[in-house]
Amino acid sequence: PTALLWFRRDLRLHDHPALLAARDAAGPDGDVVPVFVFDDRLYGPSGGPRRRFLLDCLAALDDDLGGALVLRRGDPARVLPALAGEVGATSVHVSADAGPYGRRRDEAVERALGEVPFERTGSPYAVTPGRVTTRDGTPFQVFSPFARAWREHGWRAPASSPGGVRWRSGVRSDEQPPAPDLDGVALPPAGEAAALAAWERFRDERLLGYADGRNAPGSDGTSRMSAYLKYGCIHPRTLLADLATAGQAESVRRYTDELAWRDFYADVLWHRPGSAREYLKPELQAMGYDDGPHARALVRAWETGRTGFPIVDAGMRQLLGEAYVHNRVRMIVASFLVKDLHQEWTLGARWFMRHLVDGDLASNNHGWQWVAGTGTDASPYYRVFNPVTQGRKFDPDGAYVKRWVPELRDVDPRYVHEPWTAPGGVPAGYPAPVLDHAHERQVALDRYARVRGR
Ligand code: FAD
Repeated sequence: PTALLWFRRDLRLHDHPALLAARDAAGPDGDVVPVFVFDDRLYGPSGGPRRRFLLDCLAALDDDLGGALVLRRGDPARVLPALAGEVGATSVHVSADAGPYGRRRDEAVERALGEVPFERTGSPYAVTPGRVTTRDGTPFQVFSPFARAWREHGWRAPASSPGGVRWRSGVRSDEQPPAPDLDGVALPPAGEAAALAAWERFRDERLLGYADGRNAPGSDGTSRMSAYLKYGCIHPRTLLADLATAGQAESVRRYTDELAWRDFYADVLWHRPGSAREYLKPELQAMGYDDGPHARALVRAWETGRTGFPIVDAGMRQLLGEAYVHNRVRMIVASFLVKDLHQEWTLGARWFMRHLVDGDLASNNHGWQWVAGTGTDASPYYRVFNPVTQGRKFDPDGAYVKRWVPELRDVDPRYVHEPWTAPGGVPAGYPAPVLDHAHERQVALDRYARVRGR
């Protein structure tokens, strides 16, 4: 028999239950055809960094498969039945997709395959979305009880090594879509080997400092696993297995919690497929958002890192420079767009999805809703981040700001988060603040009070 293994967000060979299911379905004398399909509805609208990283991950996967990876383009509901017919596949294997589009697409593929079974084994999450529920079977709305139940539920041990698979080679590929021109954006090395190496370095050198280091954007305190997790170059189970043997340190608990946040947001999206785009607190949609030429110019200043607030500008420039932003700074720049510039969170979520290499519908859009105060278990709306005090607290020596905003490199650290107070004033080439934070904060709170009072 021949089994088709359709790779999607699981671009690796180890700890891959669907791969093992394909191997077992093929049996000792059969073979497995590995395929990736460029689906225009997903690939086309993805931002350049994600498209580039995906292409690089596929190249690495193809190397690991000895050149056997088949690339096809088009609607998977047409491409997969055609390929299955071409190679005589008797089953098609995938890791389950929990997103709204992926679920619809997979149902269409399953129908189009007719008699050929479509087998979902595993998912990109430690616990498959939808599995962790309250005692009466309803979804969790709040993170902490979810995380508790998630830990109690537990996860499988990492799947065994992919020995004994006979990959069929020589199956025709379509030409791959053109690579985006990224104009100097520095992406991490792609693929499974790079993911494992990055994880092992973090685990051995920095994991135990994570609780303290995770909030300091100027240091290398976080794991940078997000893009690898997004494309499945590594599975969270692999990380959790190492964490389980790393002791009881606060850092280990914190890191496990972050992986729980990733699963939580996927779970919210699974239960409420509209939640990535709809306000989870719809009354906040009536807040009244700013528009017009001045508002648009301010948004442009935010996008390009020229607001005059150093920590905001550093974050937005990191986004354009590395297709990544430190988590603490994601919260600061998101708060600034929503509460200082009075823009809808959806606008910022779209900008992030266009520029992040780890851009993920569940984590990004729910992360934005958290900051905007519109989501499940969100930060309360009245919590408005002050960019100066956040900068002073989390980047006290200005290392992060100086890395991304060269105009401020010579500013004394005492003034680096409010250069307008420095004895020499704002350095040449760097903008004066585009707004008065205390004033805009009050405007945001007044608008909030109005919608609440309706
Ligand atoms: P670490 O601190 O090393 O954390 C380890 C892993 O845990 C991460 O790789 C990630 O998979 C997961 N994780 C950590 N924090 C969160 C979180 N708050 N929510 C969900 N998962 C988390 N994360 C994305 O993966 N994709 C996104 O598109 C995304 N957009 C975001 C937008 C906003 C406005 C905010 C506030 C957060 C967003 N996050 C997103 C979550 C978080 O910022 C990133 O996962 C993290 O910065 C990635 O860096 P790291 O791998 O070094 O994280």
